Amino acid sequence: MPEPPQPPIHLSDDEWRSRLSPEQYRILRQKGTEAPYTGQYDHHFEPGLYRCSGCGAELFFSGAKFDSGCGWPAFSTPTNGQAVAEHEDGSHGMRRTEVTCARCGGHLGHVFPDGPRPTGLRYCINSASLNFDPNQK
Ligand code: FE
Repeated sequence: MPEPPQPPIHLSDDEWRSRLSPEQYRILRQKGTEAPYTGQYDHHFEPGLYRCSGCGAELFFSGAKFDSGCGWPAFSTPTNGQAVAEHEDGSHGMRRTEVTCARCGGHLGHVFPDGPRPTGLRYCINSASLNFDPNQK
């Protein structure tokens, strides 16, 4: 069952720094990227729900996860249209679409138009931005 929408979370930079690990802070709050093939969920395919590691919001079901070979967890769709927000990103000399948690604004990764059918999308997400919840499927 989808959870009801949760109110947005707004914390100060100091509050985020104190509640996140240094790696989570670097990625979620400073738009960092974990090294490819190193994240704990890159090759993780248990049934369950992936939540935001910043705020706990539900983001992706395991049924949407696929092995893209790109070195990061890849999903074909979020749990619903309100779970994530998308933003044009021109950093690093590339035109990409950044994906953030709609609830806390944390950086998750990017979405690319080269995923499997039916969505044709590949949500390329940092493992550090996710917490796996095996109790919800
Ligand atoms: Fe979040």
